[in-house]
Amino acid sequence: MIESEDDLIVVGGGPAGLLSAISASKKGVGVTLLESKNVIGHHEHCAGLLSIDGLKSLNLLNLPSNIVQNKAIRGSKIYSPKGELIVVQKNEPTAWVVDRAGFDSHLSSQAVELGVKIRTSSRVLNVKRTNNHLKHILGKRSTTQRIKSKMVILAEGRFPALNEKFNLPSPSRNNIVYASQFIMSGVKDIEREFVEIYQCNSLVPGFFGWIIPIDDKRAKVGLGVINPPASKVLENLIKKHPILKQKLSSAKIEKRMSGAIPIGSYIKRTYADNVLVVGDAAGQTKPTTGGGVIFGGIAAEIAGDVSSQAIKNEDFSSKFLSEYEKRWRKEFRKNLNVMKLVRNYLNSLEDEHVEKLFNLLNKPKIKKKISRFGDVDNQAKIVFRLVFNLRLWPFLLGTGMRFLSKKN
Ligand SMILES: Cc1cc2nc3c(=O)[nH]c(=O)nc-3n(C[C@H](O)[C@H](O)[C@H](O)COP(=O)(O)OP(=O)(O)OC[C@H]3O[C@@H](n4cnc5c(N)ncnc54)[C@H](O)[C@@H]3O)c2cc1C
Repeated sequence: MIESEDDLIVVGGGPAGLLSAISASKKGVGVTLLESKNVIGHHEHCAGLLSIDGLKSLNLLNLPSNIVQNKAIRGSKIYSPKGELIVVQKNEPTAWVVDRAGFDSHLSSQAVELGVKIRTSSRVLNVKRTNNHLKHILGKRSTTQRIKSKMVILAEGRFPALNEKFNLPSPSRNNIVYASQFIMSGVKDIEREFVEIYQCNSLVPGFFGWIIPIDDKRAKVGLGVINPPASKVLENLIKKHPILKQKLSSAKIEKRMSGAIPIGSYIKRTYADNVLVVGDAAGQTKPTTGGGVIFGGIAAEIAGDVSSQAIKNEDFSSKFLSEYEKRWRKEFRKNLNVMKLVRNYLNSLEDEHVEKLFNLLNKPKIKKKISRFGDVDNQAKIVFRLVFNLRLWPFLLGTGMRFLSKKN
Protein backbone atom coordinates (compact mmCIF):
# COMPACT_ATOMS: atom_id res chain seq x y z
CA MET A 1 0.00 0.00 0.00
CA ILE A 2 1.31 3.50 -0.89
CA GLU A 3 1.40 5.71 2.21
CA SER A 4 2.43 9.03 0.65
CA GLU A 5 3.35 10.64 -2.66
CA ASP A 6 5.53 13.51 -3.89
CA ASP A 7 6.88 14.85 -7.20
CA LEU A 8 10.52 14.18 -6.35
CA ILE A 9 12.20 11.92 -3.82
CA VAL A 10 15.84 12.61 -2.90
CA VAL A 11 17.63 9.67 -1.29
CA GLY A 12 20.44 10.81 1.05
CA GLY A 13 20.82 13.84 3.31
CA GLY A 14 24.47 14.74 2.63
CA PRO A 15 25.37 17.97 0.79
CA ALA A 16 24.59 16.52 -2.66
CA GLY A 17 21.10 15.36 -1.63
CA LEU A 18 20.32 18.54 0.30
CA LEU A 19 21.50 20.87 -2.48
CA SER A 20 19.47 18.87 -5.06
CA ALA A 21 16.39 19.19 -2.85
CA ILE A 22 16.96 22.94 -2.35
CA SER A 23 17.46 23.50 -6.07
CA ALA A 24 14.29 21.59 -7.09
CA SER A 25 12.10 23.12 -4.40
CA LYS A 26 13.18 26.63 -5.45
CA LYS A 27 11.59 25.78 -8.83
CA GLY A 28 8.27 24.93 -7.17
CA VAL A 29 8.58 21.15 -7.13
CA GLY A 30 7.26 19.06 -4.19
CA VAL A 31 10.31 17.35 -2.65
CA THR A 32 10.70 14.70 0.05
CA LEU A 33 14.23 13.88 1.22
CA LEU A 34 14.86 10.53 2.89
CA GLU A 35 17.88 10.05 5.15
CA SER A 36 18.72 6.76 6.83
CA LYS A 37 20.44 8.27 9.90
CA ASN A 38 18.33 9.71 12.70
CA VAL A 39 19.70 13.22 12.24
CA ILE A 40 21.15 15.26 9.35
CA GLY A 41 24.76 16.20 10.05
CA HIS A 42 25.08 13.18 12.34
CA HIS A 43 28.83 13.55 12.73
CA GLU A 44 31.74 15.43 11.22
CA HIS A 45 33.12 12.94 8.68
CA CYS A 46 35.04 15.37 6.49
CA ALA A 47 37.78 17.99 6.74
CA GLY A 48 35.38 20.69 5.53
CA LEU A 49 37.92 22.55 3.40
CA LEU A 50 35.83 24.37 0.79
CA SER A 51 36.98 26.87 -1.82
CA ILE A 52 35.51 30.36 -1.56
CA ASP A 53 34.83 30.37 -5.31
CA GLY A 54 33.00 27.05 -4.99
CA LEU A 55 30.92 28.32 -2.05
CA LYS A 56 30.15 31.46 -4.04
CA SER A 57 28.95 29.43 -7.02
CA LEU A 58 26.64 27.52 -4.65
CA ASN A 59 25.40 30.77 -3.09
CA LEU A 60 26.76 29.72 0.30
CA LEU A 61 28.95 32.63 1.33
CA ASN A 62 26.38 33.55 3.99
CA LEU A 63 27.05 30.54 6.22
CA PRO A 64 26.44 31.24 9.94
CA SER A 65 29.65 32.16 11.77
CA ASN A 66 29.44 29.21 14.20
CA ILE A 67 29.84 26.79 11.25
CA VAL A 68 32.89 28.48 9.71
CA GLN A 69 35.96 27.47 11.70
CA ASN A 70 38.60 29.34 9.68
CA LYS A 71 38.17 31.91 6.92
CA ALA A 72 41.86 32.69 6.40
CA ILE A 73 43.25 29.86 4.22
CA ARG A 74 45.23 31.37 1.34
CA GLY A 75 47.80 28.75 0.48
CA SER A 76 49.43 25.38 1.00
CA LYS A 77 52.69 24.21 2.51
CA ILE A 78 53.59 20.99 0.76
CA TYR A 79 56.17 18.70 2.39
CA SER A 80 58.25 16.01 0.67
CA PRO A 81 58.99 12.67 2.42
CA LYS A 82 62.26 14.08 3.79
CA GLY A 83 60.63 17.34 4.83
CA GLU A 84 61.53 19.67 1.96
CA LEU A 85 58.95 22.44 1.77
CA ILE A 86 57.20 24.15 -1.14
CA VAL A 87 54.90 27.05 -0.27
CA VAL A 88 52.21 28.12 -2.74
CA GLN A 89 50.08 31.08 -1.83
CA LYS A 90 47.69 33.77 -2.95
CA ASN A 91 47.41 37.26 -1.49
CA GLU A 92 43.76 36.82 -0.48
CA PRO A 93 41.95 33.96 1.29
CA THR A 94 40.83 31.24 -1.13
CA ALA A 95 39.18 28.66 1.13
CA TRP A 96 37.19 28.27 4.34
CA VAL A 97 37.29 25.45 6.85
CA VAL A 98 33.76 24.52 7.93
CA ASP A 99 32.32 22.18 10.53
CA ARG A 100 30.77 19.59 8.18
CA ALA A 101 28.13 18.41 10.63
CA GLY A 102 27.01 22.02 11.12
CA PHE A 103 27.23 22.65 7.35
CA ASP A 104 24.87 19.74 6.56
CA SER A 105 22.50 20.74 9.32
CA HIS A 106 22.45 24.35 8.00
CA LEU A 107 21.58 23.09 4.49
CA SER A 108 18.83 20.95 5.98
CA SER A 109 17.29 24.02 7.73
CA GLN A 110 17.41 25.92 4.41
CA ALA A 111 15.68 23.00 2.67
CA VAL A 112 12.93 22.83 5.32
CA GLU A 113 12.35 26.60 5.03
CA LEU A 114 11.80 26.09 1.30
CA GLY A 115 9.19 23.42 1.99
CA VAL A 116 11.27 20.24 1.56
CA LYS A 117 9.84 17.41 3.69
CA ILE A 118 12.81 15.78 5.42
CA ARG A 119 12.32 12.32 6.88
CA THR A 120 15.19 10.95 8.96
CA SER A 121 15.56 7.32 10.15
CA SER A 122 14.27 6.45 6.68
CA ARG A 123 16.53 4.08 4.77
CA VAL A 124 15.37 3.41 1.22
CA LEU A 125 15.78 -0.32 0.67
CA ASN A 126 14.55 -0.48 -2.90
CA VAL A 127 13.06 1.64 -5.68
CA LYS A 128 10.83 0.09 -8.35
CA ARG A 129 9.65 1.67 -11.58
CA THR A 130 6.12 0.93 -12.83
CA ASN A 131 4.09 2.90 -15.41
CA ASN A 132 6.45 5.86 -15.42
CA HIS A 133 6.25 6.19 -11.64
CA LEU A 134 8.57 5.10 -8.87
CA LYS A 135 7.74 3.20 -5.74
CA HIS A 136 10.22 3.67 -2.85
CA ILE A 137 10.35 0.96 -0.25
CA LEU A 138 11.57 2.18 3.11
CA GLY A 139 12.67 0.32 6.18
CA LYS A 140 12.05 2.08 9.44
CA ARG A 141 12.46 0.22 12.69
CA SER A 142 11.36 -3.12 11.29
CA THR A 143 8.24 -1.67 9.63
CA THR A 144 8.13 -1.15 5.88
CA GLN A 145 6.66 1.90 4.16
CA ARG A 146 6.00 2.80 0.53
CA ILE A 147 6.22 6.23 -1.10
CA LYS A 148 5.34 7.06 -4.71
CA SER A 149 7.10 9.70 -6.84
CA LYS A 150 7.65 10.82 -10.42
CA MET A 151 11.40 11.27 -10.12
CA VAL A 152 14.23 10.26 -7.81
CA ILE A 153 17.65 11.79 -7.23
CA LEU A 154 20.03 9.21 -5.74
CA ALA A 155 22.59 10.82 -3.40
CA GLU A 156 23.59 7.89 -1.19
CA GLY A 157 27.28 8.82 -0.91
CA ARG A 158 30.35 6.66 -1.52
CA PHE A 159 28.84 3.15 -1.29
CA PRO A 160 25.52 3.48 -3.11
CA ALA A 161 23.18 0.50 -3.12
CA LEU A 162 20.42 1.81 -5.39
CA ASN A 163 22.30 2.80 -8.60
CA GLU A 164 22.36 -0.83 -9.72
CA LYS A 165 18.55 -1.11 -9.46
CA PHE A 166 18.48 1.10 -12.57
CA ASN A 167 21.46 -0.55 -14.28
CA LEU A 168 23.59 2.47 -13.43
CA PRO A 169 27.22 1.96 -12.39
CA SER A 170 28.59 2.74 -8.92
CA PRO A 171 32.03 4.21 -8.12
CA SER A 172 34.66 1.48 -8.40
CA ARG A 173 35.42 -0.26 -5.08
CA ASN A 174 39.03 -0.59 -6.29
CA ASN A 175 39.41 3.17 -6.22
CA ILE A 176 38.37 4.03 -2.70
CA VAL A 177 40.66 5.61 -0.13
CA TYR A 178 39.94 5.06 3.53
CA ALA A 179 40.44 8.22 5.55
CA SER A 180 41.15 8.91 9.18
CA GLN A 181 41.20 12.32 10.81
CA PHE A 182 41.98 13.54 14.32
CA ILE A 183 41.03 16.93 15.69
CA MET A 184 44.13 17.87 17.66
CA SER A 185 44.96 20.68 20.07
CA GLY A 186 48.43 21.87 21.06
CA VAL A 187 49.75 21.62 17.49
CA LYS A 188 53.05 23.52 17.09
CA ASP A 189 54.27 25.68 14.24
CA ILE A 190 51.12 25.94 12.14
CA GLU A 191 49.62 29.04 10.55
CA ARG A 192 45.89 29.68 10.18
CA GLU A 193 46.47 30.75 6.58
CA PHE A 194 48.10 27.56 5.33
CA VAL A 195 46.90 24.04 4.80
CA GLU A 196 49.75 21.51 5.05
CA ILE A 197 50.09 18.56 2.66
CA TYR A 198 52.40 15.58 3.30
CA GLN A 199 53.18 13.71 0.07
CA CYS A 200 55.02 10.54 1.10
CA ASN A 201 54.18 7.30 -0.66
CA SER A 202 56.13 5.07 1.72
CA LEU A 203 54.18 6.28 4.78
CA VAL A 204 50.88 7.18 3.06
CA PRO A 205 50.56 4.88 0.04
CA GLY A 206 47.92 5.96 -2.46
CA PHE A 207 47.05 9.43 -1.12
CA PHE A 208 48.53 12.05 1.25
CA GLY A 209 48.47 13.37 4.77
CA TRP A 210 47.13 16.79 5.82
CA ILE A 211 46.99 19.39 8.56
CA ILE A 212 44.06 21.76 8.18
CA PRO A 213 44.30 24.52 10.77
CA ILE A 214 41.26 25.62 12.75
CA ASP A 215 43.34 28.23 14.57
CA ASP A 216 47.01 28.64 15.55
CA LYS A 217 47.03 25.56 17.79
CA ARG A 218 44.06 23.36 16.80
CA ALA A 219 43.89 21.48 13.54
CA LYS A 220 42.35 18.60 11.63
CA VAL A 221 45.14 16.10 11.05
CA GLY A 222 44.35 13.31 8.65
CA LEU A 223 45.20 11.07 5.73
CA GLY A 224 43.74 8.69 3.21
CA VAL A 225 45.09 5.22 2.37
CA ILE A 226 44.20 2.37 0.06
CA ASN A 227 44.51 -0.30 2.73
CA PRO A 228 42.73 0.29 6.04
CA PRO A 229 42.91 0.65 9.01
CA ALA A 230 43.67 4.30 8.19
CA SER A 231 43.86 5.34 11.85
CA LYS A 232 46.86 3.04 12.40
CA VAL A 233 48.60 4.49 9.33
CA LEU A 234 47.87 8.00 10.65
CA GLU A 235 49.36 7.16 14.05
CA ASN A 236 52.43 5.80 12.28
CA LEU A 237 52.76 8.88 10.05
CA ILE A 238 52.58 11.14 13.11
CA LYS A 239 55.32 9.09 14.76
CA LYS A 240 57.63 8.82 11.75
CA HIS A 241 57.37 11.84 9.45
CA PRO A 242 60.29 14.19 10.25
CA ILE A 243 58.13 17.33 10.23
CA LEU A 244 54.81 15.99 11.52
CA LYS A 245 56.39 14.33 14.52
CA GLN A 246 57.81 17.66 15.66
CA LYS A 247 54.61 19.63 15.10
CA LEU A 248 52.50 17.04 16.92
CA SER A 249 54.96 15.98 19.65
CA SER A 250 52.86 17.47 22.44
CA ALA A 251 49.49 17.63 20.66
CA LYS A 252 46.39 15.91 22.09
CA ILE A 253 43.70 14.08 20.14
CA GLU A 254 40.31 15.65 20.94
CA LYS A 255 38.23 13.66 18.50
CA ARG A 256 38.70 10.87 15.94
CA MET A 257 36.73 10.33 12.76
CA SER A 258 36.92 8.15 9.71
CA GLY A 259 35.34 7.77 6.31
CA ALA A 260 35.91 6.70 2.75
CA ILE A 261 36.40 8.68 -0.46
CA PRO A 262 35.84 7.45 -4.03
CA ILE A 263 38.80 8.68 -6.08
CA GLY A 264 38.29 6.70 -9.30
CA SER A 265 36.38 9.66 -10.80
CA TYR A 266 32.87 9.83 -12.24
CA ILE A 267 30.64 6.91 -13.21
CA LYS A 268 30.02 6.51 -16.92
CA ARG A 269 26.28 7.22 -16.81
CA THR A 270 24.39 9.30 -14.25
CA TYR A 271 20.81 9.18 -15.56
CA ALA A 272 18.11 6.67 -16.47
CA ASP A 273 14.33 6.93 -16.94
CA ASN A 274 12.98 8.84 -13.87
CA VAL A 275 16.42 8.78 -12.16
CA LEU A 276 19.49 10.98 -11.64
CA VAL A 277 22.61 10.22 -9.53
CA VAL A 278 24.66 12.94 -7.78
CA GLY A 279 27.64 13.49 -5.47
CA ASP A 280 29.93 10.72 -4.22
CA ALA A 281 27.37 8.17 -5.50
CA ALA A 282 28.23 9.43 -9.00
CA GLY A 283 31.98 9.65 -8.27
CA GLN A 284 31.93 13.45 -8.62
CA THR A 285 34.84 13.69 -6.19
CA LYS A 286 38.30 15.07 -7.00
CA PRO A 287 40.77 12.17 -7.37
CA THR A 288 43.70 14.40 -6.34
CA THR A 289 42.40 15.85 -3.08
CA GLY A 290 39.24 13.84 -2.32
CA GLY A 291 37.14 17.02 -2.17
CA GLY A 292 33.55 16.26 -3.16
CA VAL A 293 31.34 18.95 -1.67
CA ILE A 294 31.78 21.62 -4.35
CA PHE A 295 31.60 19.48 -7.53
CA GLY A 296 28.87 17.31 -5.98
CA GLY A 297 27.04 20.51 -5.03
CA ILE A 298 27.29 21.98 -8.53
CA ALA A 299 25.97 18.71 -10.00
CA ALA A 300 23.21 18.68 -7.36
CA GLU A 301 21.99 22.13 -8.38
CA ILE A 302 21.86 21.00 -12.00
CA ALA A 303 20.06 17.77 -11.01
CA GLY A 304 17.43 19.75 -9.08
CA ASP A 305 16.92 22.06 -12.03
CA VAL A 306 16.64 19.29 -14.66
CA SER A 307 14.28 17.29 -12.40
CA SER A 308 11.99 20.29 -12.00
CA GLN A 309 11.89 20.75 -15.79
CA ALA A 310 11.12 17.04 -16.26
CA ILE A 311 8.29 17.28 -13.73
CA LYS A 312 6.84 20.41 -15.36
CA ASN A 313 7.03 18.82 -18.84
CA GLU A 314 5.84 15.41 -17.58
CA ASP A 315 8.82 13.92 -19.42
CA PHE A 316 10.91 11.55 -17.31
CA SER A 317 12.60 9.79 -20.21
CA SER A 318 16.34 9.17 -20.05
CA LYS A 319 16.59 11.23 -23.26
CA PHE A 320 15.17 14.29 -21.49
CA LEU A 321 17.20 13.66 -18.33
CA SER A 322 20.48 13.27 -20.26
CA GLU A 323 20.58 17.07 -20.14
CA TYR A 324 21.81 16.70 -16.53
CA GLU A 325 24.86 14.72 -17.58
CA LYS A 326 25.63 17.10 -20.46
CA ARG A 327 25.55 20.07 -18.10
CA TRP A 328 27.64 18.69 -15.24
CA ARG A 329 30.21 17.23 -17.65
CA LYS A 330 30.57 20.64 -19.26
CA GLU A 331 31.26 22.15 -15.83
CA PHE A 332 33.97 19.81 -14.53
CA ARG A 333 34.55 16.57 -16.47
CA LYS A 334 37.81 17.80 -18.04
CA ASN A 335 39.14 18.62 -14.57
CA LEU A 336 38.14 15.23 -13.16
CA ASN A 337 39.94 13.50 -16.05
CA VAL A 338 43.14 15.50 -15.48
CA MET A 339 42.95 14.97 -11.70
CA LYS A 340 42.56 11.21 -12.13
CA LEU A 341 45.67 11.09 -14.31
CA VAL A 342 47.63 13.22 -11.81
CA ARG A 343 46.52 11.04 -8.86
CA ASN A 344 47.56 7.82 -10.65
CA TYR A 345 50.87 9.38 -11.69
CA LEU A 346 51.64 10.64 -8.15
CA ASN A 347 50.80 7.22 -6.72
CA SER A 348 53.28 5.60 -9.10
CA LEU A 349 56.22 7.65 -7.74
CA GLU A 350 58.69 6.29 -5.22
CA ASP A 351 59.74 8.65 -2.41
CA GLU A 352 63.06 9.36 -4.19
CA HIS A 353 61.11 10.57 -7.27
CA VAL A 354 58.95 12.79 -5.07
CA GLU A 355 62.13 14.33 -3.60
CA LYS A 356 63.45 14.96 -7.12
CA LEU A 357 60.14 16.50 -8.20
CA PHE A 358 60.18 18.80 -5.15
CA ASN A 359 63.68 19.85 -6.09
CA LEU A 360 62.59 20.72 -9.61
CA LEU A 361 59.45 22.57 -8.51
CA ASN A 362 61.14 24.46 -5.69
CA LYS A 363 62.41 27.22 -8.00
CA PRO A 364 61.15 30.82 -7.67
CA LYS A 365 59.76 31.00 -11.23
CA ILE A 366 57.87 27.70 -11.00
CA LYS A 367 56.55 28.44 -7.51
CA LYS A 368 55.31 31.81 -8.75
CA LYS A 369 53.51 30.06 -11.59
CA ILE A 370 51.92 27.51 -9.24
CA SER A 371 50.84 30.29 -6.88
CA ARG A 372 49.38 32.27 -9.76
CA PHE A 373 47.57 29.51 -11.66
CA GLY A 374 46.96 26.94 -8.90
CA ASP A 375 43.23 26.54 -8.29
CA VAL A 376 41.83 23.67 -6.23
CA ASP A 377 38.66 23.43 -8.37
CA ASN A 378 40.39 23.99 -11.72
CA GLN A 379 43.59 21.98 -11.35
CA ALA A 380 43.85 21.41 -15.12
CA LYS A 381 44.96 25.06 -15.46
CA ILE A 382 48.24 24.56 -13.56
CA VAL A 383 48.81 20.96 -14.69
CA PHE A 384 48.86 22.01 -18.37
CA ARG A 385 51.24 24.87 -17.57
CA LEU A 386 53.66 22.57 -15.72
CA VAL A 387 53.54 19.82 -18.33
CA PHE A 388 54.69 22.32 -20.95
CA ASN A 389 57.60 23.53 -18.82
CA LEU A 390 60.73 22.38 -20.67
CA ARG A 391 62.83 22.08 -17.48
CA LEU A 392 60.47 19.40 -16.16
CA TRP A 393 60.46 17.33 -19.35
CA PRO A 394 63.34 14.94 -18.64
CA PHE A 395 61.86 14.08 -15.24
CA LEU A 396 58.29 13.81 -16.52
CA LEU A 397 59.36 11.69 -19.47
CA GLY A 398 61.35 9.28 -17.30
CA THR A 399 58.74 8.85 -14.58
CA GLY A 400 55.91 9.07 -17.14
CA MET A 401 57.31 6.11 -19.11
CA ARG A 402 57.65 4.16 -15.86
CA PHE A 403 54.05 5.04 -14.92
CA LEU A 404 52.74 3.94 -18.33
CA SER A 405 54.67 0.67 -18.28
CA LYS A 406 53.33 -0.11 -14.76
CA LYS A 407 49.79 0.71 -15.94
CA ASN A 408 49.94 -1.74 -18.82
C1 LIG B 1 38.04 12.26 6.09
C2 LIG B 1 37.38 12.96 4.93
C3 LIG B 1 37.73 14.27 4.65
C4 LIG B 1 37.11 14.95 3.58
N1 LIG B 1 37.45 16.25 3.38
C5 LIG B 1 36.82 16.96 2.42
C6 LIG B 1 37.07 18.34 2.25
O1 LIG B 1 37.88 18.92 2.98
N2 LIG B 1 36.40 19.01 1.27
C7 LIG B 1 35.49 18.39 0.47
O2 LIG B 1 34.92 19.04 -0.42
N3 LIG B 1 35.22 17.08 0.60
C8 LIG B 1 35.84 16.34 1.57
N4 LIG B 1 35.56 15.02 1.73
C9 LIG B 1 34.60 14.38 0.82
C10 LIG B 1 33.17 14.77 1.20
O3 LIG B 1 32.95 14.44 2.55
C11 LIG B 1 32.18 14.02 0.31
O4 LIG B 1 32.54 14.24 -1.05
C12 LIG B 1 30.75 14.51 0.53
O5 LIG B 1 30.31 14.23 1.84
C13 LIG B 1 29.80 13.83 -0.45
O6 LIG B 1 28.51 14.26 -0.26
P1 LIG B 1 27.27 13.32 -0.65
O7 LIG B 1 26.05 14.07 -0.30
O8 LIG B 1 27.45 12.82 -2.04
O9 LIG B 1 27.42 12.02 0.28
P2 LIG B 1 27.39 11.90 1.87
O10 LIG B 1 27.85 13.13 2.51
O11 LIG B 1 28.10 10.62 2.19
O12 LIG B 1 25.84 11.72 2.18
C14 LIG B 1 25.11 10.57 1.80
C15 LIG B 1 23.95 10.43 2.77
O13 LIG B 1 23.04 9.44 2.26
C16 LIG B 1 22.56 8.66 3.33
N5 LIG B 1 22.11 7.39 2.73
C17 LIG B 1 22.88 6.46 2.12
N6 LIG B 1 22.12 5.45 1.63
C18 LIG B 1 20.84 5.76 1.94
C19 LIG B 1 19.58 5.11 1.70
N7 LIG B 1 19.50 3.97 1.00
N8 LIG B 1 18.45 5.68 2.17
C20 LIG B 1 18.51 6.86 2.87
N9 LIG B 1 19.68 7.52 3.12
C21 LIG B 1 20.82 6.98 2.66
C22 LIG B 1 23.77 8.54 4.26
O14 LIG B 1 23.37 8.23 5.58
C23 LIG B 1 24.38 9.93 4.14
O15 LIG B 1 23.88 10.82 5.12
C24 LIG B 1 36.15 14.30 2.77
C25 LIG B 1 35.81 12.97 3.04
C26 LIG B 1 36.40 12.31 4.11
C27 LIG B 1 36.02 10.89 4.39
